[in-house]
Amino acid sequence: YDDRDGKIWMDGTLVEWRDAKVHILTHAMHYASSVFEGERCYNGKIFKSREHSERLIESARLLDMELPYTVDQIEEAKYATLHANGFNDAYVRVLAWRGSGPDMGVAANQNPVRMAVTTWEWGAYYGDAKWQGAKLDIAKWKRPSPETIPTAAKASGLYMICTMSKHAAMAKGCSDALFYDYRGYVAEATGANIFFVKDGEVHTPLPDCILNGITRQTVIAMMKDMGITVHERHIMPEELPGFQQCWLTGTAAEVTPVGQIGDHHFQVGQLTRDVSDAYEKLVRT
Ligand code: PMP
Repeated sequence: YDDRDGKIWMDGTLVEWRDAKVHILTHAMHYASSVFEGERCYNGKIFKSREHSERLIESARLLDMELPYTVDQIEEAKYATLHANGFNDAYVRVLAWRGSGPDMGVAANQNPVRMAVTTWEWGAYYGDAKWQGAKLDIAKWKRPSPETIPTAAKASGLYMICTMSKHAAMAKGCSDALFYDYRGYVAEATGANIFFVKDGEVHTPLPDCILNGITRQTVIAMMKDMGITVHERHIMPEELPGFQQCWLTGTAAEVTPVGQIGDHHFQVGQLTRDVSDAYEKLVRT
């Protein structure tokens, strides 16, 4: 995957895909000092592009890292990368990290903050079986407290337990894992937010220790416009059997129906289809 044709934007210039390399002393490799964004370009336009660039800058700020680029410069870099690769429909990954430099220890004020933009074609995140409903395992790890780690940042360090939980879920034949949080409330999947339907109304966890996904915010606003009642609240695992439908939202996942969480089964129902259809339409307008 690294030795192929294509262009990657690195620190202000487009380089060959196979030459986009970093040194082993990169601070981020040792101490997880990196933040990133995942975005989707539809028909040549990145959905909520500026919101993603703003979140990247904010994620970096939360890690005490000043990104040497403005929103406009990040926008330019993303589109330059898409155009260089000739993509109209693609996933865009922006990564910012502390590089190598005089600081080899935990402190890294002397090392440069770097940024790269990569893009690739990426279809349905959970594969072609989307309408069968994803099967989720319950993660053994918990989403941490905002007093433990800056949970509002889309920071690489927060994904260590995501990879571990996703691997454990896949080993059990599931497509993803659902986290509870440090208090025991239902939280989020490893790369997506979660929604439930009960008697025609929608319930979703409060974003007080999970990523307040851009898709999550978009879908909530969209549902309110559709006249659907949405409750953002703390949800206990004991409530799962009382929900009839469930779906995940995320840039990569878009709106993906969930058919099963642990032993609880959900219908892929009409409301899920309506929300998915409306989202698909919105991203292409
Ligand atoms: N939670 C986690 C842990 C994620 O990685 C993602 C994907 N960025 C989301 C939620 C959804 O966020 P968004 O809708 O902004 O892609």
